[in-house]
Amino acid sequence: MPRRISLLLVSLMIASLLAACGGPSLSGSTPQSDTPQPAGVATSVPPSPQQAPTQPASTLPAPTPSAQIEGSSTPACTSPAALTPPMTEGPYFTANSPERASLFEPGMAGTKLVLTGYVLTTDCQPVAHALLDFWQANANGEYDNAGYTLRGHQFTDAAGRYQLTTVVPGLYPGRTEHIHVKVQAPNGPVLTTQLFFPGVESNETDSIFDPGLVMTIQDAGAGETATFDFVVSAP
Ligand code: FE
Repeated sequence: MPRRISLLLVSLMIASLLAACGGPSLSGSTPQSDTPQPAGVATSVPPSPQQAPTQPASTLPAPTPSAQIEGSSTPACTSPAALTPPMTEGPYFTANSPERASLFEPGMAGTKLVLTGYVLTTDCQPVAHALLDFWQANANGEYDNAGYTLRGHQFTDAAGRYQLTTVVPGLYPGRTEHIHVKVQAPNGPVLTTQLFFPGVESNETDSIFDPGLVMTIQDAGAGETATFDFVVSAP
C-alpha cells in the first residue's frame, strides 16, 4: 500500500512536472511562434526604412518593372520607339547641380518617391552613362532658387538604368505635380522635359500636361515607387 501510494505520488509528481514543463513549453512555443509573427511584422516595419537605403542602392530593379527587366536585362521597348516628348524648361532650372542619385534629405516633408527607369535609343538600345539632371519643387510647391535642394544630376549605369530618390513635389499656381529633367546621351542633344503623376486632378487644368510623360506609379510601404523610360536621340 505505501508503495502504491508512493508510486501514485511519484506518478502524480511526474505528471505535474510534465504539465508544468509542458505548460510553459507549449504556452512558450505558442507565444514564440506567435511572437515572431507580430515581432516579424513589428520589426519588419522599422528595418524596412533602415534597409531602404541599401535596397535602392544595391538593387536598381527593385520596383515592379524589375520583374520584366530582370530576365532580359532590357526594358519593354518596341523599335522604333517614339522619342520622349520635350517640354518647356520653366524658370527654375539651376546649372551645375551636384551629382547625386538621392535628392531626399532627412526630415524633408512629403511622400518619399523612388523613380527608376532606362534611357534608351529609338532602337531600344540602353544608353550607358547618359546624363539626367533633375530639379523639382518641394512638397509645398516651392523651388530652392538659392541653393540645390531637390536638384541633382546622375548618369545611367552600364545597362542604361537610373534611379532617383526624392519626394513627391507639391502644387504651385498653374501647375500640376511635375518633376523637371534634362536627359542627354553622351555627345547627344539635350532633351528638356517634365514628368507627371497619374491620377492627379490638377493634370486636367495644367495647360502643358502631356499624358505621354506620365510615370507609372506603385505604392510602396513607406512611399511611392515609379518608373519611366526615356527615349532620346543618340549619335
Ligand atoms: Fe516646375
